[in-house]
Amino acid sequence: MKVLVASPTGLCFGVRRAIEALEATLEERGRVYSLGSPIHNPQEVERLKAKGLVVVDEIDQVPPGVTLFIRAHGVSPQVFREALRRCGEVIDGTCPFVRKAQERAMVLSDEGYPVLIVGDGEHPEVKGILGFVNGFAAVVPHRGRLEEVLDGHRFQKVGVLSQTTQKLEVFFDVVKALVGIVPEVRVYNTICSATLERQRAVCELASSVQGIVVMGGRNSANTRKLYQIALESGAQAVWIEHPDELDYGWLADKGSIGLAAGGSTPDWLIRELIERLEKL
Ligand code: SF4
Repeated sequence: MKVLVASPTGLCFGVRRAIEALEATLEERGRVYSLGSPIHNPQEVERLKAKGLVVVDEIDQVPPGVTLFIRAHGVSPQVFREALRRCGEVIDGTCPFVRKAQERAMVLSDEGYPVLIVGDGEHPEVKGILGFVNGFAAVVPHRGRLEEVLDGHRFQKVGVLSQTTQKLEVFFDVVKALVGIVPEVRVYNTICSATLERQRAVCELASSVQGIVVMGGRNSANTRKLYQIALESGAQAVWIEHPDELDYGWLADKGSIGLAAGGSTPDWLIRELIERLEKL
């Protein structure tokens, strides 16, 4: 079978950088706590746990004096302060693109702008960014929820930015609608370039293959978006977390397959998938 791999695809700069820092610390310390899963990929998390990683959900579950790792999604200033107070050492793996979004939110807030974040309010990155805003802040999942989020406020100005893994069209739709409602709109496009490049690569792939396999953790926001983009581009697409989930019946009538992987899919899993597909 002909296999075309989206380019770029797989581990993004921010996750690769964070995981390298985590692995180096694990080698030195032997045991490292992580606030939340350091990568949205269960197989990779298991590999790191075997090296001494301990994942906890909340800062108050971190024992005093230990080494704590902050993942690429970052945390709010409140959580970071508590981490410094509680832990012997804090390794900050916050992605520079997320850091930029946090800084933008803080500047907007300091300058008196109500802040809107286009994204998923349950996502840890968005929760962290919200912590940088002192005044009004709200999360807009998509254009259809904008009026509800504004909740009758007649703002004269707003600042708007995006979750780093947001789809460009969703962000633009919200910005376009805001321009028609609020007299002054300051826009920061904080979608990271790694996300944009991966989304474009899937669009391009869709027209040249008979189906697309998207691989990435079920809890990975950027993998979900790649899968949606593949479907919206008119491709037949499946989303798997591991090569073991390949549906050989679905593949049977296809002569060419595209492969795209979320930003938290490790290289070794992608290699394994390519090898299996090429043997068909
Ligand atoms: S998807 Fe973008 S913002 Fe998120 S970790 Fe990767 S490079 Fe950073």
